[in-house]
Amino acid sequence: MIVQEIQAKTVLGKSRVHDYTLNAYVGCAHDCAYCYARFMKRFTGHREPWGQFVDVKTNAPELLRREVAGKRAKGTVWISGVCDAYQPLEREYGLTGQCLEILVDNGWPVTVQTKSPLVLRDIEILKRAADARVGFTITTADEGIRRIFEPGAPAIAERIEALGVLHEAGIETFVMVAPLLPGAEELVALVRDRVDSALIDRDNYSHAAGVYRRYGLEWARDAHSCQERGEALRAAFEQAGVPCRKLY
Ligand code: SF4
Repeated sequence: MIVQEIQAKTVLGKSRVHDYTLNAYVGCAHDCAYCYARFMKRFTGHREPWGQFVDVKTNAPELLRREVAGKRAKGTVWISGVCDAYQPLEREYGLTGQCLEILVDNGWPVTVQTKSPLVLRDIEILKRAADARVGFTITTADEGIRRIFEPGAPAIAERIEALGVLHEAGIETFVMVAPLLPGAEELVALVRDRVDSALIDRDNYSHAAGVYRRYGLEWARDAHSCQERGEALRAAFEQAGVPCRKLY
């Protein structure tokens, strides 16, 4: 893994999903086969494959303090739309935690989305937030499938357990089943008591086409199969009392 410390010029980015997106890292060690964020590589100058480098914006908290003070209105900050803000390097650098604390202390709404239980390190900050929600991306309940598509990401059981801890602490939680991978059906029973809502999306990109092919899973990308399985999963979540939106 190539780790490079950089000085960023800005840290709050505009987002189409929430008002802003924030991330102290460019690149992601979770190395998911389907990752849509790999387009960011072209802004970095890195020649290594996606998943093999991370740029660390060491001045992110300092920038954020300035940017928050300079905005006329508060907006919801998504941590993060691309590159997992709680990837392993965060344990060492703590930049996401510092940024989260700045946002919470200034009363900015925050939506955290991650695959890592490292977010639990910041549970006390989240508990005192006026408006914070935490989502875990969980694409399948099958650990074998997870290892194929998300080789560097934490195990499914760890994510589910973390959701439970956050939910128990009174923090709003959600599960994002995206992309919908084989074996996602079992998730409903595993998370139903740990989340307030669920979202489902299909694999909208072709980055992992070779992986689906290699493991005989092409059926899982088929449009008809995605519609059927997505709809069945949405209905199962709703039946279990979890409001669910299918995004395609
Ligand atoms: S966790 Fe998200 S950003 Fe990181 S490699 Fe996986 S899909 Fe990409």
